[in-house]
Amino acid sequence: MSLPATAEVVIVGGGVMGTSIAYHLTRRGVKDVVLLEREPFLGQGATGRCAGGVRYQFATEVNIRLSQVSLPMLERFKEEIGVDAGYRPIGYLFFLTREEDVQAFRRNVVLQHRLGVATEWLSGDEVRRRLPNMRLDDVLAGTFHAKDGLADPHSVVQGYARAARRQGARIFTDVEVQDIEVQGGRVRGVVTSRGRIATEVVVNAAGPWAGVVGRMAGVEIPITPLRRQWLTTTPIPDLPPDFPFVIDFAQALYFHPEGEGILTGMSNPNEKPGFDQNVDPEWELVHMEAAMARMPALARAGVVSRVAGLYEVTPDAHPIFGATPVEGFYVCAGFSGHGFMHGPVAGLLMAEILLDGRAQTVDVSMLDLARFAEGRLIREYNVV
Ligand SMILES: Cc1cc2nc3c(=O)[nH]c(=O)nc-3n(C[C@H](O)[C@H](O)[C@H](O)COP(=O)(O)OP(=O)(O)OC[C@H]3O[C@@H](n4cnc5c(N)ncnc54)[C@H](O)[C@@H]3O)c2cc1C
Repeated sequence: MSLPATAEVVIVGGGVMGTSIAYHLTRRGVKDVVLLEREPFLGQGATGRCAGGVRYQFATEVNIRLSQVSLPMLERFKEEIGVDAGYRPIGYLFFLTREEDVQAFRRNVVLQHRLGVATEWLSGDEVRRRLPNMRLDDVLAGTFHAKDGLADPHSVVQGYARAARRQGARIFTDVEVQDIEVQGGRVRGVVTSRGRIATEVVVNAAGPWAGVVGRMAGVEIPITPLRRQWLTTTPIPDLPPDFPFVIDFAQALYFHPEGEGILTGMSNPNEKPGFDQNVDPEWELVHMEAAMARMPALARAGVVSRVAGLYEVTPDAHPIFGATPVEGFYVCAGFSGHGFMHGPVAGLLMAEILLDGRAQTVDVSMLDLARFAEGRLIREYNVV
């Protein structure tokens, strides 16, 4: 299929954001939507490398509200989109080993309760009782929310892409956006590896590469690519059947069931910004030592697969939604390591921003690009 010469809207990026935006725009009746992805397949960027975690437990009101719309969309994905998103509410259990984290999480739980999220507060003994196969002598307390859990990124991307196509969107892979034409302060077109498309609206949904795409239009978007990695293991014999998504908050170390084994990851606090998506074998050793100290059974397990990908981190670990100083150039990126779970609501909100002038379902006006220049940053504590 050759590229069209014109489009009403061009979306750059075929991850969860781009495909969700394409679906929601076409559902609202915009027919002439073109999505461009440079990889041979959709969902090969951050989305395809994500750990699949979805949660309501956040430390800011806006993130909780985003989850309160987005997770139910994943829950009823099959009804709406025709594909099962694989939502499994296995619960997230954060455990805490530092007094300052206990204080911060107490405040988070008060906020979560005020907004209707029924997170349970757990004593150290309760955490130890729930996780009998882990070494947790130093745990002071924890939190658990039963409707947090897992979903399948590939099903979500493919589901949105298929539904968007059915509604008229044209989706192209193997097409790289190389430049964005701006004249008189507004978008006029995109230049790609397969030709030019004239358009007055471009949505930058390029995830960790959104800063690069922003510069094509002369717009500075403060998104830092940071490598994160995880691995999966062979079966763990003593894994309890109700083992949840477990996070050792102080170490940014996590575990969740994957088949009969475990998926585990740990964030390297010294990772340098960059686009390298190869697994760092030295960090894997540090990670596995920490993981085995917590879950001794891992010493007898083998590694099945290893994955590295890029977080798209903003200065306040919150996403960027909406307009930029260039008229017709919009951004939906910078979800800072939890964008998969917010992909459904993000597409809905971007359609509202483009068609109604502002997001109606959740107020994300404080998540505009201008906040960085104006010093209106948002504080988020639960970044893993
Ligand atoms: C290791 C890891 C674990 C994670 N775990 C979780 C988790 O448990 N839960 C969660 O909610 N989130 C998680 N995340 C974060 C989540 O994956 C991202 O926030 C989310 O996928 C971002 O989606 P996106 O569509 O913005 O970006 P992407 O999926 O990266 O999509 C952007 C796309 O743009 C394309 N692109 C870039 N430049 C161009 C160009 N010039 N022309 C054309 N196409 C272009 C890229 O190829 C890419 O496919 C994790 C991320 C990583 C790396």
